[in-house]
Amino acid sequence: MTIPTTIAQAKKMLETKEITALDLTNLFIQRIEKFDAGENGIGAYTETCFDIARKQAEKLDASGDFSKPLAGIPYSLKDVVSKKGMKNTAGSKILENYIAPHDATVAKKLEDSGAILLGKVNTDEFTMGSSCENSAIQKTVNPWNYSKVPGGSSGGGSSSVAKYLGLFSIGTDTGGSIRQPANFCGISGLKVSYGRVSRSGIISYASSFDSIGPLAPTVDCCARVLEIIAGHDEKDATTPEIEVSQYSSVTSSDEKTLAGKKIGVIKEFTEAEGLDAEIKKSFEKSIETAKKLGAEIVEISLPLTKYAIPTYYLLVKAEASTNLARYDGIRFGSTSECENLDEQYLKTRSEFFGEEVKRAIMMGTYTLSAGYFDAYYLKACKVRTLIKQEYDSAFEKVDALIAPVSPFSAFNIGEKIDDPLTMYLADIFTVTANLAGICGLSIPTEKVNDMPSGVQILGKAFTEETILEIGNVLEKEFGFTDVREGEMV
Ligand code: GLN
Repeated sequence: MTIPTTIAQAKKMLETKEITALDLTNLFIQRIEKFDAGENGIGAYTETCFDIARKQAEKLDASGDFSKPLAGIPYSLKDVVSKKGMKNTAGSKILENYIAPHDATVAKKLEDSGAILLGKVNTDEFTMGSSCENSAIQKTVNPWNYSKVPGGSSGGGSSSVAKYLGLFSIGTDTGGSIRQPANFCGISGLKVSYGRVSRSGIISYASSFDSIGPLAPTVDCCARVLEIIAGHDEKDATTPEIEVSQYSSVTSSDEKTLAGKKIGVIKEFTEAEGLDAEIKKSFEKSIETAKKLGAEIVEISLPLTKYAIPTYYLLVKAEASTNLARYDGIRFGSTSECENLDEQYLKTRSEFFGEEVKRAIMMGTYTLSAGYFDAYYLKACKVRTLIKQEYDSAFEKVDALIAPVSPFSAFNIGEKIDDPLTMYLADIFTVTANLAGICGLSIPTEKVNDMPSGVQILGKAFTEETILEIGNVLEKEFGFTDVREGEMV
């Protein structure tokens, strides 16, 4: 039996009893065993919970009730999202044996909606990175070409969804970690507005930037997940009481028009240094396509873009250095044998943190220290406000912005790992959304340089409905989902 490749398809099959929840769960488990596990596998899943998944499916079948929105839909959680009784390693040796004592709000909401968890998936250590190579737990490859990175930090999520080892995955995006891996693996990924989804139960990187969202085969799948996980949560004070729309009502239509939509193209993005010529060409094709579908395209200038990377890295590393202080080998983290507290602190952190995390702690501690705080941290906070204002005024002129996601498609494993600065600079198109707190949706369009590529649609904070609507039309017009199905199933 062939697998359903979207949530809507799976739902229909379950509701009409064409397949049982147990059979569906087993189909995905078999794929994970075949394509993910072992030496020659993709290496996306860090831990699985197949027995629990099967039991949950059996229970659903016995009840015969598939009315819950995600009843029987198999999925995975990035290994920074707490699921009670399962590990939550954050891709780090320091949390290698840490078992989550509770469910993150998203995990709880998904369970209540009937979704079936298959396991946890790989991430760069503490979500710092853009290739998944910073994971201390295992190596994950890109299913389109095993010598390429799957993107990061949600690389386990992107590779597993592209290979249909689940129908969606929950990832986090602090500076592009959902949109960029989705782009590298040819799937859709939604970075929600800051505060749209509760961060409770997630291991944080930079608390004022972190956002939680889905990586999924289609925009419609993203919408269906978003309407479950979005909303106010009393456990996260940054989630406002803004109504949660029925997002899938705008993505389930097959109508292909963008008439009446005004979409901006960011001048500074198209002129960015390092943008691969083929990616640029493909991006221009997306703009033409949007125009052909009826959208009005206007050029928008965001001159502060040139400060985005330094501002972002300065701030996230400062927040990270504070967040990481808790890993002291006492309450969290592995313990080494030590004479005193100072030694324990030093030994644990030297031994169990990876290079990128140590870089974050050093950079962050420096910029927060007395004497440098005003010159670096405070100044970056001010620039962040200006960048946000620049986006606010752009959204007075347009409904959404269209932009590339990454300056290049998936690169070779090992190619950039020793060059952190190049890696940082490659985040140019993604980090501004997190600085400004707005939403962004990455969609696949076509293959470029033999690997999947696509664009992102950026929207004003809490206008997920608009970007999902636009993204859905473009995604269907490009039809990349058929290409993926052809190669991956
Ligand atoms: N590559 C970026 C960083 O390391 C983004 C990571 C993320 O969004 N979690 O900060």
